[in-house]
Amino acid sequence: MPPPAAVGARDRLRIAIQKSGRLSEPARALLAACGLSWRESRDKLFCYGESLPVDLLLVRDDDIPGLLADGVCDYGIVGRNVLAEHAAERAREGSHVASREVRALGFGACRLAIAVPERWEWTGPGDLQGKRIATSYPGLLQQWLGEAGVDATVATLTGSVEIAPRLGQADAVCDLVSSGATLVANQLKPVETLLQTEAVLAGPVLPFGDARAELAALLLRRLEGVLKLKDSRLLLFQARREALPRLLKLLPDAEPPTVMQVDGADTLALQALCHGSMTWQRLEDLKLAGASALLVLPVERTLS
Ligand code: ATP
Ligand code: ZN
Repeated sequence: MPPPAAVGARDRLRIAIQKSGRLSEPARALLAACGLSWRESRDKLFCYGESLPVDLLLVRDDDIPGLLADGVCDYGIVGRNVLAEHAAERAREGSHVASREVRALGFGACRLAIAVPERWEWTGPGDLQGKRIATSYPGLLQQWLGEAGVDATVATLTGSVEIAPRLGQADAVCDLVSSGATLVANQLKPVETLLQTEAVLAGPVLPFGDARAELAALLLRRLEGVLKLKDSRLLLFQARREALPRLLKLLPDAEPPTVMQVDGADTLALQALCHGSMTWQRLEDLKLAGASALLVLPVERTLS
């Protein structure tokens, strides 16, 4: 008879993603590209994994670190900012770290920054001494102020942080910035960056001791493959043999190309898998260096 399963042992993986918001669609698309599919429940909070035993939990992004800490979910797709804020708060309470960033996912990029009214002639973090700063990231802000040796009041707000200076609620803000348009609209300017962030896969600190270990390894392998291919393109072109060294120098991100002879010994046809983005400028540079009949193709999948 097999030994009884350990308490809490599970044979399905559970991944928490944002229910609705900036990260929800890209997170789903990424997992779908890894070959996952789900049957949606009526309440749309739980999606049962069909192609693999990997279920989704759809939640508010702020709840994801807590769900990981409590072991309700095995992985989560969340902004590094949310994960780091949770870690900063736990550190302040003296609790141990419950989850870690497994891998950056290449979307949802922005930064957590201090922004001040445009008229402020900023000289450095010391300018914040004795001031009041509004934020939804009190843990990270306190940590940064502590490291900078600045004594300021942190006012925790959950929404519309950027309007606080105009309402007289704060002198400055600490908020997420991507294009900066929201700051400009509120007559603020970014002056210090606390954290560069993007969506990450967050997961357990310790490896799984049950059937989830194998599933997790499979998922991470597929994720690597999908993310590696994201900007990859198959480049086809022809060139004279003597132009080859010059052309290869322009393709530092390419896998070793396949080279075929086309016309006698001197004209070659090449195909190369390139991992950097294939811009018009790059194609024009290749043409100038002797490439012709350039063709760029998307790559759906590779397996080596
Ligand atoms: P929820 O209802 O799940 O709590 P939310 O309003 O907190 O949603 P969103 O505005 O959807 O969250 O942002 C989710 C994440 O997207 C942020 O935590 C951040 O990592 C990332 N992000 C990227 N660009 C921006 C931006 N310009 N402003 C805010 N977040 C951004
Ligand atoms: Zn949120």
